[in-house]
Amino acid sequence: MSGKGQPPFSTKPRLIGSRDPARPLPYATNEPTPGQAARREGTPVGFECGNGSAGESGHADYGRMKICYNAAVFDQRARSLSLLRHEAGHVVTQEQRGVFPRWLLPPNPINRSRRIAILGATGSIGQSALAVLRHANQMAESALSENGRFQLFGISGHENLGSLAMAAREFSPEFVVCSNTSMEAQWAHACPEFGGRFNAGAEALVDLAAHPDVDIVVAAIVGRAGLESTMAAIESGKLVALANKETLVMAGHLATDLATKTDARILPVDSEHSAIFQCLHSGGRLEVRRVILTASGGPFRTWTAAQQRDVTPEQARAHPTWKMGAKISIDSATMMNKALELIEAKWLFGLDAAQLEVVVHPESIVHSMVEFVDGSILAQCSPPDMKLPIQAALDYPNRFESPARRMDFRVPFGLNFEPPDMDRFPALLVGLEVARRGGSCGVIVNAANEVAVQAFLERRIRFSEIVPVCRKVLDSHPFEPYPDLASILELDRWARLESCKCISSY
Ligand code: NAD
Ligand code: MG
Repeated sequence: MSGKGQPPFSTKPRLIGSRDPARPLPYATNEPTPGQAARREGTPVGFECGNGSAGESGHADYGRMKICYNAAVFDQRARSLSLLRHEAGHVVTQEQRGVFPRWLLPPNPINRSRRIAILGATGSIGQSALAVLRHANQMAESALSENGRFQLFGISGHENLGSLAMAAREFSPEFVVCSNTSMEAQWAHACPEFGGRFNAGAEALVDLAAHPDVDIVVAAIVGRAGLESTMAAIESGKLVALANKETLVMAGHLATDLATKTDARILPVDSEHSAIFQCLHSGGRLEVRRVILTASGGPFRTWTAAQQRDVTPEQARAHPTWKMGAKISIDSATMMNKALELIEAKWLFGLDAAQLEVVVHPESIVHSMVEFVDGSILAQCSPPDMKLPIQAALDYPNRFESPARRMDFRVPFGLNFEPPDMDRFPALLVGLEVARRGGSCGVIVNAANEVAVQAFLERRIRFSEIVPVCRKVLDSHPFEPYPDLASILELDRWARLESCKCISSY
C-alpha cells in the first residue's frame, strides 16, 4: 500500500494522498542486502556473528542450527534447496528446510489453567499482561467454564504499591513480591486484606521466577534489573514470555544455552519479535533470507541532528504510536530501542546479524517482516497494542479472542516505509555492530545506555549525548568473546562507572 494517511483504527474517515508517480516502486532494485554485500566481498560474517567467538565452543547445541551460523553455508543451502524443489517428486525434509531453536517450540500441553507470574506487574507491559488475563478470565466466566486459560500465581513491583495492591485485590495471587526492600513495611497498609504470601527484595523475585508451581513467567521488569529473575526462570525450565529484551542483549549466549539445557521456552513479547515469530512459521530456518524489523522512528523521526540537541525529557517521552515506560520511550526516541531489538532478534531466532535489517514505518501497523529465499515477504499487522503480542506468547501456539483493537479496512489509509537515517540515528550502527561482534559488547552498551538515559531524564546530559556515551564506552571496553555470568555482572559494573565518568566530563 502506498500514500500517506492516518492509522485506520481511529473512528474518523479521512482522505489519503496517492503515490508520487515519479517515485520508483521499491522492488525496482537488485541492491544486495548488507549481508549479501559483505559475503560478496568475502567478509566472513557468518562465523563472527553467530555468537561472538563461541562458534566452536558448543553454544549451538541445537543440532542443525549450527549450520545456520555460517552465512556462506546458508546461501549455499538456500540455493541447493531451491534446486531440490525443482526436482519433480523430490521430498524436502524438515532438516533440509532447517529447524528453529528449541526454546521457540510450543510448551508441553497441560490439562489445567497455566499458572503465571508477572514480574514487573506495575509497569506498562505488566498492566497489559493483567488486561489479557482479565479478558481471558471474563471469557471463561461467560463460557461457564470452571478453569480459565490462566491463573495469576504471583506478581512483583518495585515502587508503586498502590498498583500492586489493586492487582492483588482483583486477582488474589498466592505471592506478591516488592523488589524494593525499602518499601516492604508499607505493604500492610497498602493491602491489609491480602491473604497470600508477601516477600521483599531481589532474591524474592528470583524465588518467584523459579517457584515450582509457576508455568509461565512474564519477564516485564525494565533494564538490567530483570536479568537475574529472567535467568532464574530459564534455569527452572519455565515458559518465559520475554519483554525484558535487556536479558538477551546482556547475556543472549548464556540465556539461550541455558534454555537449551533446561528445555525452557523463550517466547517474544516485544511486538517486532512477536511479528517475526509469527511470520517464521511459514518456512524453515534455512529458507529465511532476511528479517526486517520495523521502527516507528520515534518522536524525532523527521528532526535534524541540530534540532535533536535540545529536546527535553518530556518531548522524548511522547512517543507517537506507543504508550510505554520511561526508559523504553527514550530508547525509542534515540532508536537505541531498535538497536537492542536487533541484538534480541539475533539471539532469540538464532539468526546471523547479516540477516537483520531495519526499516522505518511511522504508522506502527506492520510490526516486522520476514523475507524467505523465494522473495516472499511475510508481515504481521495490527494496531499498535501490546496486549496482542503478550497474549500470543502466553497461549502459544493457540489464538483466542483478544481485547486489543482491530484494523478497519473500510477506511482508506496508507502505510509508509523509509530507510533509516544512520547519521541522525547512530544508535542503529551501534546495534548492528554489537549484533555482529557479540561477546561482551551487549552488556557494555546496555549498561552505558541505561546510565545515559537516566542522566538525560535527570537533565544532566543532552539527548544528543546519550548515544555518544554508549559509543565511547563500547569502544574503550576490554572485549570478551564469551563472558560467563560473573564476568557479565563485572562488565556491567565497569561500564556503569565508565559511563558516569564520561557523563561528568560533559
Ligand atoms: P515500565 O517502566 O513501565 O515498568 C517496569 C517494571 O519494572 C515496573 O513494574 C517496575 O516496578 C519494575 N522495576 C523497575 N525497576 C526495578 C528494579 N530495580 N527491580 C525490580 N523491578 C523493577 O517499563 P515497560 O515499558 O513496561 O517495559 C518493561 C520491559 O518490557 C522493558 O525491558 C522494555 O524494553 C520491554 N518492552 C516494553 C514495551 C512497552 O510497550 N512498554 C514493548 C516492548 C518491550
Ligand atoms: Mg519493540
